[in-house]
Amino acid sequence: MSTIGFIGLGQMGSPMALNLIKGGHSLRVFDINTSAVEALVEQGATAASSPADAALDAEFVVTMLPNGTLVKNVLFGESGIVESLDKNALLIDMSTIHPFETDALIKQMSDRGFSMMEAPVGRTSDHAVKGELLILAGGTKAQIERAQPLFDCMGSETVDAGGAGKGIRVKIINNYMSIALNALSAEAATLSEAIGLEFETALEVMSGTPAGKGHFTTTWPGKVLAGDLSPAFMVDLAHKDLGIALDLANQVNVPVPCGAASRELYSITRAAGRGRQDWTSVFEQLRVTSGLEAKIK
Ligand code: NAD
Repeated sequence: MSTIGFIGLGQMGSPMALNLIKGGHSLRVFDINTSAVEALVEQGATAASSPADAALDAEFVVTMLPNGTLVKNVLFGESGIVESLDKNALLIDMSTIHPFETDALIKQMSDRGFSMMEAPVGRTSDHAVKGELLILAGGTKAQIERAQPLFDCMGSETVDAGGAGKGIRVKIINNYMSIALNALSAEAATLSEAIGLEFETALEVMSGTPAGKGHFTTTWPGKVLAGDLSPAFMVDLAHKDLGIALDLANQVNVPVPCGAASRELYSITRAAGRGRQDWTSVFEQLRVTSGLEAKIK
């Protein structure tokens, strides 16, 4: 069992810290919100007076904070973690922050001789309470192996994302897609209602199509990911159908910003001469437009 410094006892951090205590670990906790600290002390944690105090004699220090500036401050600011952190300890940042900030923090820590990895989490505070978070671990194999007993207290699944900085990258990409899809879903459901279609009918149909299942696992594997852009469904037709939906939305006064923006990508793809290719070629076109090397000749 380990001594762990834990900093950031919010909606996520508090239940995560509690699950570490339940797992038999000794916790030294710090948060600027003293009532959050007191609640954990009642559960068996020791109160720390600063990040440096929380890190004293700790084998692991976990940070679970709202943003990268705060993570930087608790590491290197006044009474920061590095003032007392043992060179053999492992710092694990579990916050969701900008990946380039993560890269910079890991480098600054490494330059000072400290070991740091990131392990942002997927799922929600309900899962944090149950110890069922998805841990997206970015670090060396040795760091992940060392932290695994802690991850097992806080989560039910750990993904080795493939190296330092990769955990936060997959976290941000996952959130990007699910957050944007939430807005697109709201557009589709609102448009359904505005044109008199029952939501249940839309739900039934879309549960079985790429609209509901997503493209990564349905249309992409046999086409653009396989290097085959022969049309199963043509870009020109997708562009036409999207245009009909946008016209309809306009006629019934439903704003559809996600749909309108996505039409631009189909237009760019057609303008590049891909109108008769498979609709999954929007991916290859966006890659090329972004300066990445073409994969499909
Ligand atoms: P929160 O706002 O509930 O908690 C943040 C905690 O950090 C607060 O208790 C606050 O007092 C403390 N804090 C702020 N500045 C501090 C400082 N300088 N020193 C010590 N403590 C300080 O946020 P949360 O929901 O627990 O989220 C934490 C992180 O987890 C975020 O990066 C968030 O994006 C990520 N996350 C949240 C969820 C979710 O469902 N809430 C899910 C996955 C990931």
